[in-house]
Amino acid sequence: MDGDVVVVGAGLSGLATALGAALKGRSVTVFEAADLVGGAAAYSGGQVWVGANHVAQREGIDDDLERARAYVRDIAAADPELLDEQALERWLTTAPVATKYWEDVGAIRWAVIPGLADYHSDADGALEAGRYLTNAVIDGSELGEWRGRMRVSPYFPVGTTYAEMFEKGRRKAYVDDADQVAEHAGVPAFGRAGVEAPTGASDTQLDDPLTFGTGVVASFVARVVREDAVEILTGHRVVELLRGDNGVVTGVRALGPDGPIERRGRVVLATSSFDWNPELVKELLGIDPDDFGSVAPESIRGDGITLARSVGAAVARIPATSVPMLPGWPSQVGTGVGYGPEFALPHAMIVDATGKRYCNDSYWVDIVRRTLDPADRHLPFFLIWDEQHHRKYGLGATSPGEPYPVGMVTSAPTLGELGAALGIDGVELEHTAMHFSEHAAQGVDPDYGRGSVAFVQRFAGDPDHEPNAVLGPISEAPFHGVRLKIVGTGIGSSGVHIDCDGHVLDEDGGQIPGLYAVGSCAALTTTGSGYNSGIALGRALTLAYLVAQELGS
Ligand SMILES: Cc1cc2nc3c(=O)[nH]c(=O)nc-3n(C[C@H](O)[C@H](O)[C@H](O)COP(=O)(O)OP(=O)(O)OC[C@H]3O[C@@H](n4cnc5c(N)ncnc54)[C@H](O)[C@@H]3O)c2cc1C
Repeated sequence: MDGDVVVVGAGLSGLATALGAALKGRSVTVFEAADLVGGAAAYSGGQVWVGANHVAQREGIDDDLERARAYVRDIAAADPELLDEQALERWLTTAPVATKYWEDVGAIRWAVIPGLADYHSDADGALEAGRYLTNAVIDGSELGEWRGRMRVSPYFPVGTTYAEMFEKGRRKAYVDDADQVAEHAGVPAFGRAGVEAPTGASDTQLDDPLTFGTGVVASFVARVVREDAVEILTGHRVVELLRGDNGVVTGVRALGPDGPIERRGRVVLATSSFDWNPELVKELLGIDPDDFGSVAPESIRGDGITLARSVGAAVARIPATSVPMLPGWPSQVGTGVGYGPEFALPHAMIVDATGKRYCNDSYWVDIVRRTLDPADRHLPFFLIWDEQHHRKYGLGATSPGEPYPVGMVTSAPTLGELGAALGIDGVELEHTAMHFSEHAAQGVDPDYGRGSVAFVQRFAGDPDHEPNAVLGPISEAPFHGVRLKIVGTGIGSSGVHIDCDGHVLDEDGGQIPGLYAVGSCAALTTTGSGYNSGIALGRALTLAYLVAQELGS
């Protein structure tokens, strides 16, 4: 049976669009290239940024649309030419409505992430808490047979709540759950008995609590699989868009385990970004493979862009300096790059080959902006830390104080020798570390402001480290270092050009009939060069709502 609607990708935006369209009476086929559903969203922190949302309101937090608008406008003000004014307004005004809608239809129970400040605390309209939502814990049993077909994040201690994680610090929470995190990296079965549900969830004990991005997506999965009108075909990669004589997109062709299959209907691209497509990484970010890695699933290959281009769609570009990416290091598990708060913990700093610092090196927004600045690039770049960091935090799958795997980290008795081994000016590195350490011991960084961003302190820092959760001297031998990579998280910012309602546009700005795009495969013209964690998922759920309403009308 052909569906009215074909959704390409079963990550968060695709599943939400499918649910919304089904609730509007449509029959929907969802094609998912991977064997598991959830996409990068299931790997994510599950932070969903929504200004003036109803959840904050019911928790007694004061916010309104004017302040949310002021905030987004301020963080996007540097590059107004990258902004689509209509898309910005549509998103800001629809996001609170969509957020409530998803809760009203039983797709998720929301909770505010406690005490997490907007990135840019100094911007107009910034809040100290209230705009980051996540799911209020779901038990895996609610997914039935789909529990085993869900991606589980290897990057967050799934089962732990944000409140619990903040109490220990993110790194310690991860290390405490390391066995489970490693065991469940891409492996379905997971359970942690006896975790208390947080305020706002049920007061019973859960056997298989799901939190972070895994929990957010699991909530939608549990709801969408109850809709008979939605068919989800995993292991099916869409490879072609079908068109009628008049140029209307009429369906897709996918490759599945039993060969090619076609479905007719209006098509929604929900394939996320282009992390695992080196040509698109080079074209849209200007980064070579040696300097780039990704923690998104390997099925995120820019297919939405390739498919849309094949029918004449335009690609909108956001400069690499504004793309939310992070520094990463070689990893012993998973996709080859490490992702975590280690670079932002005390007793660490980032330098380039000259041995000098050049950015607020605990704050990824500044790291990316300055490392990739076309007028003053700082590639290659390196993370440098000392034995105190090793003893307290470890790195990736290496627990605190454990030996690093052979070949992963370079170590030396002095910073000069470390510099020589890594290809960094060792004399300058010694000077840099000495200067950094003098101030770090006082909890300040007069040069680049490390330790001054409230979001970073809470999300990445060590709450037990005084006087500053992200600053400590680099003074105890042996010293350690790695060459870093820029790490994508399934948000490329550049992508398929859409209008404010998710219609895919051609090079002349006209709508391509029958074709929509939602989530991170669509360019972030909504906020241009401004970004705050959670905007990817917040906008994804808003676009899914808007497109689903139109598909159902
Ligand atoms: C570690 C990590 C932490 C993050 N934290 C946050 C956060 O806290 N807040 C936030 O807002 N964002 C965060 N992100 C980014 C966010 O998760 C992504 O931008 C988001 O998942 C995008 O949602 P989506 O629905 O567009 O795509 P996804 O959830 O990635 O889903 C896309 C799906 O499409 C499938 N697909 C691709 N091509 C095809 C094809 N040809 N045919 C069929 N299926 C296809 C993929 O396999 C995938 O399942 C994080 C990402 C990572 C990796």
